[in-house]
Amino acid sequence: MTTPSIPTSAPRPLHSTWAPGYADVRPPATTAELDAAVDLLRGHRVVTLTGAGISTDSGIPDYRGPNAVPRSPMTYQQFVGDPGFRRHYWARNHVGWHHMVATSPNDGHRALAALERAGVVSGVITQNVDRLHTVAGSHAVIDLHGHYNEVVCLSCGTVISRAELDRRLLDLNPGFLEEIAEVGDVEIAPDADAVIERTAHFRTAPCERCGGILKPNIVYFGENVPKDRVARAYAMVDDADALLAVGTSLAVQSGLRLVKRAARDGKPVVIVNRGVTRGDELADLRLNAGSTEALEHLLARLS
Ligand SMILES: [Zn+2]
Repeated sequence: MTTPSIPTSAPRPLHSTWAPGYADVRPPATTAELDAAVDLLRGHRVVTLTGAGISTDSGIPDYRGPNAVPRSPMTYQQFVGDPGFRRHYWARNHVGWHHMVATSPNDGHRALAALERAGVVSGVITQNVDRLHTVAGSHAVIDLHGHYNEVVCLSCGTVISRAELDRRLLDLNPGFLEEIAEVGDVEIAPDADAVIERTAHFRTAPCERCGGILKPNIVYFGENVPKDRVARAYAMVDDADALLAVGTSLAVQSGLRLVKRAARDGKPVVIVNRGVTRGDELADLRLNAGSTEALEHLLARLS
């Protein structure tokens, strides 16, 4: 198969130097290919690694997906170093959070939870911060990059709920949400970020205990996943005897290294994603398929 090159000026995620070296020219996965995944995973305890692609059917856009509009995610350094950027970020987050809490799991999340109940899936490691796996009923879930409904103080380490902060932001910014809704220029992204422009007058809230900077308790680009969480994720991979990656391009090391670990140990690796991934050469089978379709197929055949 020849692999057409893409222009070197193609936009790349800010947080990763990786970009696909070629376009995915595969047709959508056939039923026979989906059945091949069933055969590879049958009889195994399967750890599942998920990314933004599994939440697109819940209305949360995947900014890395094949049809996504390229955007540059915020870095930790930008957030900490620039008060103006931080204000803009919190204004966007204020709007985005209200959308995020209103989202619901989709059939893909539910199929994965059912596969856990059936004893097929041993656990879920997700790169998403939307908590939709937990809401859908999955129990063994590691939120690798944190989740959106906690906020941490960068000075004293106090963690509060995002709902508690929301009450303060609403008090500080009366009418802001309504104003933005009228403007109508809001979209949500996987990190609860919403794209708006009129944020200059937004008032942020400091830590009530020490006055420090508050930050969503999410691992941002330029930050590392906490060591104990990495250890738990490796343990979940080691405890399983096959790995299924769903809806992720595996562009960031925090997910890719888990796939490398499973492949190193000779465990079957199946990747389901629309588009090429950074882990394709590690996979025994890779399917160009949507997350919901593939997980429902696995559920029907394996449970
Ligand atoms: Zn504090």
